[in-house]
Amino acid sequence: MHIDVTTFSGSCTCGRNHEIYVKDIIIESGAVKRLPEYLAHIFHGNYAKIGILCDSNTYKAAGRKAEAVLPGSYTVILPAENLHADNHGVELAEEMLAGMKDLKLILAVGSGTIHDITRYLSNILSVPFVSVPTAASVDGFVSTVAAMTWNGMKKTIPAVSPVLVVADTDVFSEAPYRLTASGISDLLGKYTALIDWEVSHIVTGEYICTRVCELELKALKEVCSCLPQLRNYNSEEVRKQAYEQLMYALLLSGLAMQMIGNSRPASGSEHHMSHLWEMEVINGPLDAYHGEKVSIGLMIATKTYHKVKNAIRNGFCSVKPYKGLEYDILKEAFAPKGLYEDIITENTPDPLAGINEEKFKQQLPDIARILDKLPTEEEINRLLTAAGCIKDVQEIELEEGIIPKTIRLSPYVRNRLTFLRLTKLLRL
Ligand SMILES: [Zn+2]
Ligand SMILES: [Zn+2]
Repeated sequence: MHIDVTTFSGSCTCGRNHEIYVKDIIIESGAVKRLPEYLAHIFHGNYAKIGILCDSNTYKAAGRKAEAVLPGSYTVILPAENLHADNHGVELAEEMLAGMKDLKLILAVGSGTIHDITRYLSNILSVPFVSVPTAASVDGFVSTVAAMTWNGMKKTIPAVSPVLVVADTDVFSEAPYRLTASGISDLLGKYTALIDWEVSHIVTGEYICTRVCELELKALKEVCSCLPQLRNYNSEEVRKQAYEQLMYALLLSGLAMQMIGNSRPASGSEHHMSHLWEMEVINGPLDAYHGEKVSIGLMIATKTYHKVKNAIRNGFCSVKPYKGLEYDILKEAFAPKGLYEDIITENTPDPLAGINEEKFKQQLPDIARILDKLPTEEEINRLLTAAGCIKDVQEIELEEGIIPKTIRLSPYVRNRLTFLRLTKLLRL
């Protein structure tokens, strides 16, 4: 299938002119073999000017197939072990690519980490890149920002979108299922991300686009309907169709981010929890994928949001006066890692600072109505279970006791208002 990207750009009822940078998206069986044909539309140089960036696992999955159809191209194979989207990963990839004389195009063959490293390099080297996803594991393939850990601090760094996505069903449908489950969780995380955006919109008047929200809801609908068939090993055809649908949903969510120019439609409190754990300030290194952490974040956020909603409805919730940042807890958590200054800078200005206590109090019934749109904890649990996704902190070897700390600290990892951050102004 081709996704007609032109339908996502142009003027919108939200008042903006949405821009789409990716020129074409192909999702089909055997797409990697047809790379020369697809590249011909965007690249006219010699294949010796193409750098293929992959890791030792994704090289086996698709890198060598790409290399075979692009004779003369230069392949960089990063070690899959301990490879992260951080300054070390970027340095390593840059060093290895430096062996090329005249780099004109990068092919990112891999999942989220390879894509984030590539989109960052593509930006600083001013070389376009093509995305070849090897797993349906994240929704950020076409994102214009790179989610990276930079000197220990989780940062969203301006980067670039691929010019073309060539997603080969024969490749990504054969990825380890754990990666697929991670992609499903990343998408289901939109449930809380959208709530956060809508609540922030009514509280602060933050810009929102209904069309983009609808696009994310469409992605959610697509993923929910393909879940039962992703592990249908009786019919390869049906299973592959379900994978294409999942990849389509992930790319739709990516296009939604591209329309806005940042990750607001796709990342809320559930992602902030994942980012906090990646910063390793209240936990040690985790052996978990992005989507797995988002999955647990989604469960924690959903439970918290419904609890607060019920308190609002039952009259057990009042608004507290704003008292500024929680310097004490921030210092205790982030100073030992040398991240205290960074976290204060990130939170300046504090997104809670301008909120009027009285007005916020009056908005609580409207907020409760928005929270009604969030599926119940049981429904989210059922979806995650059906998809074979992770749900509990213990599954990534975290203690139950980390949950209250996560709820308290994670809203500070990013200067983005979420409902979780707003609960700091509530007394239950
Ligand atoms: Zn719009
Ligand atoms: Zn994500």
